[in-house]
Amino acid sequence: MTKLADEQVCRQHIEEMRWGGEPFCPHCGSTKPYKLKDGKTYRCKDKTCKRDFTVTVGTIFENSKIPLSTWMAAIFILTGHKKGISSLQLARDLGVTQKTAWFMNHRIRLIMGEPTPPPLDNIVEIDETYVGGKFANMNRGRRKKLQEQGIDNKVAVMGLLERDGKARLTVIGGNTFKDVVRDNVKKTAVVVTDTHLSYVGLAQEYASHLSVNHSKSEYRNGLAFTNSVEGFFSCLKRSIYGIYHSVSPKHIHRYCEETSYRFNTRQIKDADRFTRTLQNVEGRLKYKNLIKKL
Ligand SMILES: [Zn+2]
Repeated sequence: MTKLADEQVCRQHIEEMRWGGEPFCPHCGSTKPYKLKDGKTYRCKDKTCKRDFTVTVGTIFENSKIPLSTWMAAIFILTGHKKGISSLQLARDLGVTQKTAWFMNHRIRLIMGEPTPPPLDNIVEIDETYVGGKFANMNRGRRKKLQEQGIDNKVAVMGLLERDGKARLTVIGGNTFKDVVRDNVKKTAVVVTDTHLSYVGLAQEYASHLSVNHSKSEYRNGLAFTNSVEGFFSCLKRSIYGIYHSVSPKHIHRYCEETSYRFNTRQIKDADRFTRTLQNVEGRLKYKNLIKKL
Protein backbone atom coordinates (compact mmCIF):
# COMPACT_ATOMS: atom_id res chain seq x y z
CA MET A 1 0.00 0.00 0.00
CA THR A 2 2.81 2.41 0.87
CA LYS A 3 4.63 1.66 -2.38
CA LEU A 4 1.49 2.19 -4.45
CA ALA A 5 0.44 5.51 -2.88
CA ASP A 6 2.33 7.49 -5.53
CA GLU A 7 0.51 8.08 -8.83
CA GLN A 8 3.65 7.88 -10.96
CA VAL A 9 4.76 4.66 -9.28
CA CYS A 10 1.34 3.12 -9.93
CA ARG A 11 1.46 4.06 -13.59
CA GLN A 12 4.97 2.65 -14.02
CA HIS A 13 3.88 -0.52 -12.26
CA ILE A 14 0.98 -1.05 -14.68
CA GLU A 15 3.15 -0.16 -17.69
CA GLU A 16 5.72 -2.71 -16.63
CA MET A 17 3.04 -5.31 -16.03
CA ARG A 18 1.22 -4.81 -19.34
CA TRP A 19 4.09 -3.94 -21.64
CA GLY A 20 7.16 -5.28 -19.90
CA GLY A 21 9.11 -2.13 -20.79
CA GLU A 22 8.08 -2.17 -24.45
CA PRO A 23 5.01 0.03 -24.97
CA PHE A 24 2.86 -0.75 -27.97
CA CYS A 25 -0.01 1.07 -29.66
CA PRO A 26 -3.40 -0.50 -28.78
CA HIS A 27 -4.87 0.90 -32.01
CA CYS A 28 -2.46 -0.57 -34.59
CA GLY A 29 -0.02 -2.72 -32.61
CA SER A 30 3.04 -0.64 -33.54
CA THR A 31 5.81 -0.96 -30.97
CA LYS A 32 7.53 2.35 -31.51
CA PRO A 33 5.53 5.08 -29.81
CA TYR A 34 7.11 8.10 -28.13
CA LYS A 35 6.16 9.60 -24.80
CA LEU A 36 4.59 13.06 -24.60
CA LYS A 37 5.56 15.65 -22.03
CA ASP A 38 2.71 14.90 -19.64
CA GLY A 39 4.61 11.73 -18.69
CA LYS A 40 1.75 9.33 -19.37
CA THR A 41 0.50 9.77 -22.95
CA TYR A 42 2.22 7.98 -25.82
CA ARG A 43 1.90 8.90 -29.49
CA CYS A 44 2.07 6.22 -32.16
CA LYS A 45 4.82 6.74 -34.74
CA ASP A 46 3.12 4.69 -37.42
CA LYS A 47 2.33 7.07 -40.31
CA THR A 48 -1.18 5.76 -40.90
CA CYS A 49 -2.03 5.73 -37.16
CA LYS A 50 -0.39 8.52 -35.18
CA ARG A 51 -2.91 8.13 -32.39
CA ASP A 52 -2.42 8.87 -28.70
CA PHE A 53 -2.85 6.35 -25.91
CA THR A 54 -1.96 5.62 -22.32
CA VAL A 55 -1.38 2.31 -20.56
CA THR A 56 -4.96 2.25 -19.28
CA VAL A 57 -6.56 1.88 -22.74
CA GLY A 58 -8.50 -1.40 -22.77
CA THR A 59 -8.33 -1.85 -19.01
CA ILE A 60 -10.92 -1.29 -16.30
CA PHE A 61 -9.14 2.02 -15.54
CA GLU A 62 -9.76 3.45 -19.02
CA ASN A 63 -11.35 6.92 -19.15
CA SER A 64 -11.55 7.00 -15.39
CA LYS A 65 -10.97 10.27 -13.56
CA ILE A 66 -10.17 8.34 -10.39
CA PRO A 67 -6.40 8.37 -9.71
CA LEU A 68 -4.63 5.05 -10.31
CA SER A 69 -3.41 5.12 -6.71
CA THR A 70 -7.07 5.08 -5.55
CA TRP A 71 -7.77 2.17 -7.89
CA MET A 72 -4.80 0.27 -6.48
CA ALA A 73 -5.92 0.91 -2.93
CA ALA A 74 -9.43 -0.28 -3.80
CA ILE A 75 -8.12 -3.48 -5.39
CA PHE A 76 -5.93 -4.11 -2.37
CA ILE A 77 -8.83 -3.61 0.04
CA LEU A 78 -11.33 -5.65 -1.98
CA THR A 79 -9.04 -8.58 -2.66
CA GLY A 80 -7.91 -8.68 0.95
CA HIS A 81 -11.31 -8.87 2.57
CA LYS A 82 -12.53 -12.30 3.47
CA LYS A 83 -16.23 -11.59 2.98
CA GLY A 84 -16.35 -8.60 0.66
CA ILE A 85 -17.05 -5.02 1.58
CA SER A 86 -20.00 -2.72 0.96
CA SER A 87 -19.63 0.31 -1.26
CA LEU A 88 -20.45 2.51 1.73
CA GLN A 89 -17.47 1.13 3.65
CA LEU A 90 -15.23 1.31 0.59
CA ALA A 91 -16.24 4.95 0.08
CA ARG A 92 -15.18 5.74 3.65
CA ASP A 93 -11.88 3.88 3.30
CA LEU A 94 -10.96 5.60 0.04
CA GLY A 95 -12.45 9.04 0.64
CA VAL A 96 -14.65 8.91 -2.48
CA THR A 97 -18.42 9.16 -2.90
CA GLN A 98 -20.54 6.06 -2.47
CA LYS A 99 -21.53 6.22 -6.14
CA THR A 100 -17.87 6.14 -7.16
CA ALA A 101 -17.16 3.32 -4.72
CA TRP A 102 -20.10 1.31 -6.07
CA PHE A 103 -18.77 1.73 -9.60
CA MET A 104 -15.22 0.78 -8.61
CA ASN A 105 -16.51 -2.22 -6.68
CA HIS A 106 -18.31 -3.52 -9.77
CA ARG A 107 -15.39 -2.89 -12.09
CA ILE A 108 -12.97 -4.64 -9.79
CA ARG A 109 -15.32 -7.58 -9.37
CA LEU A 110 -14.99 -7.91 -13.16
CA ILE A 111 -11.30 -8.73 -12.89
CA MET A 112 -11.53 -11.14 -9.99
CA GLY A 113 -11.11 -14.76 -10.90
CA GLU A 114 -9.65 -16.50 -13.88
CA PRO A 115 -11.01 -15.51 -17.31
CA THR A 116 -11.26 -19.13 -18.51
CA PRO A 117 -10.78 -21.52 -15.59
CA PRO A 118 -10.10 -25.18 -16.46
CA PRO A 119 -13.01 -27.64 -15.92
CA LEU A 120 -13.41 -29.31 -12.52
CA ASP A 121 -12.41 -32.96 -12.14
CA ASN A 122 -12.13 -35.83 -9.60
CA ILE A 123 -15.11 -35.79 -7.23
CA VAL A 124 -17.37 -32.81 -7.94
CA GLU A 125 -20.30 -31.87 -5.69
CA ILE A 126 -23.11 -30.10 -7.51
CA ASP A 127 -26.16 -28.42 -6.07
CA GLU A 128 -28.56 -25.60 -6.88
CA THR A 129 -29.98 -22.76 -4.82
CA TYR A 130 -32.09 -19.65 -5.25
CA VAL A 131 -30.86 -16.21 -4.24
CA GLY A 132 -31.57 -12.51 -4.35
CA GLY A 133 -34.47 -10.75 -5.85
CA LYS A 134 -36.63 -7.96 -4.60
CA PHE A 135 -38.18 -10.16 -1.94
CA ALA A 136 -34.99 -11.14 -0.17
CA ASN A 137 -35.68 -8.85 2.77
CA MET A 138 -39.45 -9.07 2.66
CA ASN A 139 -41.37 -10.79 5.42
CA ARG A 140 -42.53 -14.30 4.69
CA GLY A 141 -46.26 -13.54 4.44
CA ARG A 142 -45.86 -10.76 1.96
CA ARG A 143 -43.38 -12.72 -0.14
CA LYS A 144 -45.67 -15.73 -0.20
CA LYS A 145 -48.56 -13.62 -1.40
CA LEU A 146 -46.51 -12.24 -4.29
CA GLN A 147 -45.18 -15.66 -5.16
CA GLU A 148 -48.71 -17.02 -5.28
CA GLN A 149 -49.44 -14.38 -7.88
CA GLY A 150 -46.53 -15.73 -9.86
CA ILE A 151 -44.24 -12.84 -9.04
CA ASP A 152 -40.83 -14.10 -8.02
CA ASN A 153 -37.53 -12.78 -9.21
CA LYS A 154 -35.17 -15.07 -7.41
CA VAL A 155 -32.23 -16.28 -9.43
CA ALA A 156 -31.26 -19.96 -9.72
CA VAL A 157 -27.57 -20.51 -9.06
CA MET A 158 -25.59 -23.72 -9.45
CA GLY A 159 -22.63 -24.46 -7.21
CA LEU A 160 -19.94 -26.88 -8.38
CA LEU A 161 -17.15 -27.83 -6.02
CA GLU A 162 -14.25 -30.18 -6.61
CA ARG A 163 -13.41 -31.84 -3.29
CA ASP A 164 -10.06 -30.49 -2.08
CA GLY A 165 -9.99 -28.32 -5.19
CA LYS A 166 -11.58 -25.29 -6.72
CA ALA A 167 -15.21 -24.30 -6.82
CA ARG A 168 -17.46 -22.05 -8.84
CA LEU A 169 -20.92 -20.56 -8.72
CA THR A 170 -22.81 -19.87 -11.89
CA VAL A 171 -26.22 -18.43 -12.73
CA ILE A 172 -28.25 -21.17 -14.43
CA GLY A 173 -30.27 -18.75 -16.56
CA GLY A 174 -31.87 -20.35 -19.60
CA ASN A 175 -29.55 -23.39 -19.54
CA THR A 176 -30.51 -26.86 -18.38
CA PHE A 177 -28.84 -28.21 -15.22
CA LYS A 178 -27.01 -30.77 -17.33
CA ASP A 179 -25.69 -28.14 -19.73
CA VAL A 180 -24.20 -26.20 -16.83
CA VAL A 181 -22.56 -29.39 -15.55
CA ARG A 182 -21.18 -30.17 -19.04
CA ASP A 183 -19.75 -26.65 -19.33
CA ASN A 184 -17.90 -26.87 -16.03
CA VAL A 185 -16.96 -30.49 -15.29
CA LYS A 186 -14.59 -32.88 -17.07
CA LYS A 187 -16.08 -36.20 -18.25
CA THR A 188 -13.58 -38.16 -16.14
CA ALA A 189 -15.12 -36.80 -12.95
CA VAL A 190 -17.43 -38.46 -10.45
CA VAL A 191 -20.39 -36.12 -10.01
CA VAL A 192 -22.46 -35.95 -6.84
CA THR A 193 -25.87 -34.26 -6.97
CA ASP A 194 -29.21 -34.35 -5.20
CA THR A 195 -32.02 -36.43 -6.70
CA HIS A 196 -33.45 -33.59 -8.80
CA LEU A 197 -34.78 -35.10 -12.03
CA SER A 198 -32.83 -32.61 -14.13
CA TYR A 199 -29.61 -34.47 -13.26
CA VAL A 200 -30.85 -37.86 -14.47
CA GLY A 201 -28.69 -39.15 -17.30
CA LEU A 202 -25.37 -37.79 -16.05
CA ALA A 203 -24.28 -41.34 -15.21
CA GLN A 204 -24.05 -42.11 -18.93
CA GLU A 205 -21.76 -39.15 -19.58
CA TYR A 206 -19.53 -39.12 -16.51
CA ALA A 207 -17.23 -41.63 -14.78
CA SER A 208 -19.94 -42.02 -12.17
CA HIS A 209 -23.00 -40.21 -10.84
CA LEU A 210 -23.85 -40.45 -7.15
CA SER A 211 -26.96 -38.86 -5.78
CA VAL A 212 -28.13 -37.99 -2.32
CA ASN A 213 -31.78 -37.80 -1.41
CA HIS A 214 -32.29 -34.70 0.71
CA SER A 215 -36.00 -35.24 1.16
CA LYS A 216 -35.23 -38.51 2.98
CA SER A 217 -32.69 -36.68 5.18
CA GLU A 218 -30.00 -38.84 3.66
CA TYR A 219 -27.28 -36.26 4.07
CA ARG A 220 -24.18 -38.37 4.25
CA ASN A 221 -23.81 -41.68 2.52
CA GLY A 222 -20.22 -42.73 1.80
CA LEU A 223 -18.86 -40.42 -0.89
CA ALA A 224 -22.33 -39.23 -1.78
CA PHE A 225 -22.78 -35.99 0.09
CA THR A 226 -23.04 -32.35 -0.93
CA ASN A 227 -22.18 -30.68 2.38
CA SER A 228 -19.13 -28.87 0.99
CA VAL A 229 -21.04 -27.19 -1.82
CA GLU A 230 -23.80 -26.25 0.63
CA GLY A 231 -21.18 -24.51 2.78
CA PHE A 232 -20.08 -22.67 -0.34
CA PHE A 233 -23.67 -21.45 -0.86
CA SER A 234 -23.65 -20.07 2.67
CA CYS A 235 -20.64 -17.89 1.72
CA LEU A 236 -22.62 -16.49 -1.21
CA LYS A 237 -25.70 -15.86 0.89
CA ARG A 238 -23.73 -14.26 3.73
CA SER A 239 -22.13 -11.97 1.21
CA ILE A 240 -25.42 -11.01 -0.43
CA TYR A 241 -27.64 -10.66 2.63
CA GLY A 242 -25.07 -9.79 5.28
CA ILE A 243 -22.92 -7.26 3.49
CA TYR A 244 -24.77 -6.04 0.45
CA HIS A 245 -28.24 -6.47 2.02
CA SER A 246 -30.06 -6.76 -1.25
CA VAL A 247 -28.88 -7.45 -4.71
CA SER A 248 -30.68 -6.91 -7.95
CA PRO A 249 -31.07 -10.15 -9.98
CA LYS A 250 -29.10 -8.69 -12.86
CA HIS A 251 -26.02 -8.37 -10.63
CA ILE A 252 -26.14 -11.84 -9.05
CA HIS A 253 -23.56 -13.33 -11.42
CA ARG A 254 -20.98 -10.82 -10.18
CA TYR A 255 -21.51 -11.86 -6.58
CA CYS A 256 -21.19 -15.46 -7.71
CA GLU A 257 -17.83 -14.63 -9.26
CA GLU A 258 -16.68 -12.72 -6.21
CA THR A 259 -17.60 -15.52 -3.82
CA SER A 260 -15.91 -18.11 -6.07
CA TYR A 261 -12.83 -15.93 -6.22
CA ARG A 262 -12.59 -15.59 -2.44
CA PHE A 263 -13.10 -19.31 -2.00
CA ASN A 264 -10.50 -20.29 -4.59
CA THR A 265 -7.86 -17.89 -3.31
CA ARG A 266 -8.44 -18.47 0.40
CA GLN A 267 -5.00 -19.99 0.90
CA ILE A 268 -3.08 -17.34 -1.04
CA LYS A 269 -1.33 -14.46 0.74
CA ASP A 270 -2.90 -10.99 0.41
CA ALA A 271 -0.03 -9.52 -1.61
CA ASP A 272 -0.08 -12.39 -4.13
CA ARG A 273 -3.82 -12.16 -4.48
CA PHE A 274 -3.48 -8.44 -5.20
CA THR A 275 -0.85 -9.06 -7.90
CA ARG A 276 -2.88 -11.83 -9.53
CA THR A 277 -5.98 -9.66 -9.65
CA LEU A 278 -4.05 -6.73 -11.06
CA GLN A 279 -2.82 -8.95 -13.87
CA ASN A 280 -6.45 -9.27 -14.99
CA VAL A 281 -6.97 -5.53 -15.55
CA GLU A 282 -7.93 -6.01 -19.20
CA GLY A 283 -11.58 -5.49 -19.96
CA ARG A 284 -13.62 -2.35 -19.67
CA LEU A 285 -16.97 -1.69 -18.19
CA LYS A 286 -18.53 1.71 -18.67
CA TYR A 287 -20.74 3.20 -16.03
CA LYS A 288 -23.49 3.69 -18.61
CA ASN A 289 -23.43 0.01 -19.53
CA LEU A 290 -23.25 -1.06 -15.94
CA ILE A 291 -26.49 0.76 -15.20
CA LYS A 292 -28.19 -0.25 -18.42
CA LYS A 293 -27.29 -3.86 -19.04
CA LEU A 294 -26.29 -5.46 -15.78
ZN1 LIG B 1 -0.79 3.05 -33.75
